[in-house]
Amino acid sequence: MVWHILEKIYKLMTRYKEDFTKHVLSIREEGRYRKFLNLSRSAGRFPYSTLEDNGKEVIMWCINDYLGMGQKEFVIEAAVKTLRSMGSGAGGTRNIGGNNSKIVELEKLLARFHNKESALVFTSGYVANDTTLSTLAKILPDLVFFSDEDNHASIIHGIRNSRAEKRIYKHLDIMSLRKALESVDIARPKVIVFESVYSMDGLESPIEEICKLADEFNAMTYIDEVHTVGLYGNNGSGIANLRGCADKIDIIQGTLGKAIGVIGGYISASDEIIEAIRLSAPGFIFTTAISPSTAAAAIASIEHIDRNSEDRKLQSDRVNLLKNMLRKENIKFIENNSHIIPIIIGDPILAKKASDMLLNKYSIFVQHINFPTVPKGTERLRFTPTPCHTEDMVFELVKALTDVFTILKIKQKEIVAA
Ligand code: PLP
Repeated sequence: MVWHILEKIYKLMTRYKEDFTKHVLSIREEGRYRKFLNLSRSAGRFPYSTLEDNGKEVIMWCINDYLGMGQKEFVIEAAVKTLRSMGSGAGGTRNIGGNNSKIVELEKLLARFHNKESALVFTSGYVANDTTLSTLAKILPDLVFFSDEDNHASIIHGIRNSRAEKRIYKHLDIMSLRKALESVDIARPKVIVFESVYSMDGLESPIEEICKLADEFNAMTYIDEVHTVGLYGNNGSGIANLRGCADKIDIIQGTLGKAIGVIGGYISASDEIIEAIRLSAPGFIFTTAISPSTAAAAIASIEHIDRNSEDRKLQSDRVNLLKNMLRKENIKFIENNSHIIPIIIGDPILAKKASDMLLNKYSIFVQHINFPTVPKGTERLRFTPTPCHTEDMVFELVKALTDVFTILKIKQKEIVAA
């Protein structure tokens, strides 16, 4: 008893330092420790980045600025012009400070882009998911969520924060979703939540079939198009557009931080849905809005994507080239129809070693991806070719990968389910 009290006093006096150290140590022991590289992207020279520690230039192969929009002159110019005319910050929440014209313009553009009535901008894609999903349960009492088991952390947290009932269906498995829907009273409000393309395996949801089930079971549909907005469909607005079923989706969620090349998130939906979320979502109400210059840069980027398909086409060529070369060299990756190329290593230490060797020996930066981002035993390197990667860069990458696999004696397991 006395010992217990003394221990508590000691912990208080040391501000719980030992507990924090222990926590970090356990992460190290699992091989999950991450040191972030100090990199400066070079606008105009993307995909090159400079390592601040030694001034070395490296080629980034794992970046989500999928089209290199973040370095386009007209995107930078739009931001700079608005920064000069409107200043740096939004100045507060929209609830108290009011709208600014650039955000209003951006929301109108996003609504048009997705062929919906309205849109609402948030500070990130994460916040858009978290706050929209948790707020839906306030608006729809007795709501049940149906969520793919591999949905992103922001979706998982949004659903958890809603405290609504949930049914998790097997990854991309339409029969599992059907069974889950059948198990719930048809009269209860339901929302099916899924991603268009999953960021860690690059696989696509069976979106048309999900929409059919939604009709059959009277459920709303919520799609996360974070990894596909800007890249797919007639105008680059995503997979729902590509599959011709955007009108069947009630809420399209996206980010401005990946293919759009800026930062921020949004949802696009009917007037009624957007109005209800605007008035009730804490992640919208209680936080400072994105800056006008950020909104201006996003507008310039989306307008370009909407009208031009060359960047998308070139990206797709580079993706296909890399996939074909990997197949030739017998380097296995998860086969998919998307721009995401995950090469499974299957061991956290080896994945880190491969990533370190690519950086130090070949000036190639690709982050190794470990648990909890992916299941243990499926540790991987994830490559995302962009239109800014040249053919020669692809050849050099594949040569470097072949060398690294030989030196480290990496024996890939059969890729069954990743
Ligand atoms: N949804 C998915 C599927 C994601 O992968 C991510 C981020 O990587 C997000 C949402 C969050 O988007 P943002 O980076 O804009 O916060």
